[in-house]
Amino acid sequence: MHNNPEKDINTFAPEDQVGGSTHPGAYRQPHGSAPQQPGGPLVLPPNTNSQTFKSYAQRAAEIVGTENVTVISDEAELSQKSYLEPSKAHDMFNIADKTYFVCSAVVAPRGVGEVQELMKLANEFEIPVWPFSIGRNVGYGGAAPRVPGSVGLDMGRNMNRVLKVDVEGAYALVEPGVTFFDLHDYLVKNNLRDQVWIDVPDLGGGSVIGNTIERGVGYTPYGDHWMMHCGMEVVLPSGELVRTGMGALPNPNADTSKPHHEQEANESWQLFNYGFGPYNDGIFSQGSVGIVVKMGIWLMKATGYQSYLITLPEDNDLHKAVEIIRPLRVNMVLQNVPTLRHILLDAAVMGHRTDYSQSDKPLTDDELDAIAAKLDLGRWNFYGALYGPEPVRDVMWQAVKGAFSAIPGAKFFFPEDQPNNIVLQTRHKTLQGIPSVTELNWVDWLPNGGHLFFSPIAPVTGDDAETQYKITRRLSERYGFDFIGTFVVGMREMHHIVCIVYNRKDADSRRRAHTMMKEMINEAAANGYGEYRTHLAMMDQIAATYSFNNNANMRLNEVIKNALDPKGILAPGKNGVWPKNYRAKDWQVPIV
Ligand code: ADP
Repeated sequence: MHNNPEKDINTFAPEDQVGGSTHPGAYRQPHGSAPQQPGGPLVLPPNTNSQTFKSYAQRAAEIVGTENVTVISDEAELSQKSYLEPSKAHDMFNIADKTYFVCSAVVAPRGVGEVQELMKLANEFEIPVWPFSIGRNVGYGGAAPRVPGSVGLDMGRNMNRVLKVDVEGAYALVEPGVTFFDLHDYLVKNNLRDQVWIDVPDLGGGSVIGNTIERGVGYTPYGDHWMMHCGMEVVLPSGELVRTGMGALPNPNADTSKPHHEQEANESWQLFNYGFGPYNDGIFSQGSVGIVVKMGIWLMKATGYQSYLITLPEDNDLHKAVEIIRPLRVNMVLQNVPTLRHILLDAAVMGHRTDYSQSDKPLTDDELDAIAAKLDLGRWNFYGALYGPEPVRDVMWQAVKGAFSAIPGAKFFFPEDQPNNIVLQTRHKTLQGIPSVTELNWVDWLPNGGHLFFSPIAPVTGDDAETQYKITRRLSERYGFDFIGTFVVGMREMHHIVCIVYNRKDADSRRRAHTMMKEMINEAAANGYGEYRTHLAMMDQIAATYSFNNNANMRLNEVIKNALDPKGILAPGKNGVWPKNYRAKDWQVPIV
């Protein structure tokens, strides 16, 4: 590796930048568009001139083939808006300016060896790369990079094999491009679905690897995807290849004449997470020190199943419901990850806002009651499932039904009781690991709907649920939005997912959503609540709220980042972790 002689330091660092770095060499944010060369990218990588970029793109094409390098040179490439055909170049549901979170190019490696070579190339040219698997990380930034002009590494386009499904051991080993739909289809096609199930998030089009390392959730007993992953193969920023956990122990039968990534792995790789010594998987989750190229995920043994819906009539039933849920969940009487959904989340899956109101004002309690009555739902609706042989399910149901019956007016339904309720019918599939995309409907609550997620963690107590609901509903209404949200019940906490739906073609609506979310983050932190995951535009702000002992956690993250990625080429700024050649305040995201 050598320093790039063509490097043109600070070509695109005008004097009026935000903050102003005291680091003479710190990479700075381009303001406005770079002067564009014909065929060149809309946005160049930081500190890279057109000539250097061209050389980089040529070298990348020598590694992956010209058909796997796409320079994003035309605004037309930023027009894709469909979840089913997602853009690989920008944030489709843009909250910042449409041309802000944009790649300079998208490069798609065909195998692990090429990923290793691409990392070496990125170090040589000091060009940042942003890996993604499918790019359907909607509500959190999609395929887009944190640093404008980074090269998107499309890990899923060519590397999309289900490498193994072991029915006895109940696990799968997958490459980045395997979506939840793909893995489910694999089980169906190979007649394995009556033996093992996968766990799926609300939308099945994302990748198993991307969703898991972002710590996404699903709704079966295996809903905590990160908890259920087992063993990773990772390319480090240097290009070095690592297998974590038991994967570090060689398989005595492996053919050592092959490249490392092709060698047979240890038989226990997907059976025991931790191996020996420090457990490093965590630094590759929501991290920027490795590209995950293979990952194991545990599968659930197929079993008896019954889904259900419990409707709760009053807005203030939230408190009582959560107090009922806590002991049931901790005792695993609630076996899966159930959800307590606000009426408007279900209404938005089932229809549009204009079905109920022509006014711009947030819906009132009376209007919400009328919607609930019309849809035969409650103000809060609890979707869960029972697993196991019928006698076991019957006992569990008695316990669950008995506990919720303490709430006056609670009603209990099985899917056959409400055949036209598409939410219940979809949850019935999702809670047994059958993927769908129906939940995407709620984004169309408003015309040209875009969405952001505000996702604070809440203890499973009525008081905490009520406090978070009050804060987020009050702010939603103050900024002119309806509150749409759900409490997703984990093992010991709830992910409170507030779905901020805005009109992405209306600058005012976007601005209000962006500003409101920033206010929600601050108010939540002031009450001791932090988010589990976020959109690119809010990463710095949320990272800064995790500030115990003078930001000791961030300082630790930075030490690890700088040790493993001294040139700061892998996903700089991801989750608020900036390498030493960048300064966060130089990369603030403008509210436009
Ligand atoms: P999905 O699979 O749901 O479409 P993405 O592919 O958009 O999700 O990935 C979400 C985020 O996860 C990316 O922006 C990136 O930060 C991280 N990520 C995804 N895949 C990888 C990977 N293979 N290696 C490292 N980070 C990844």
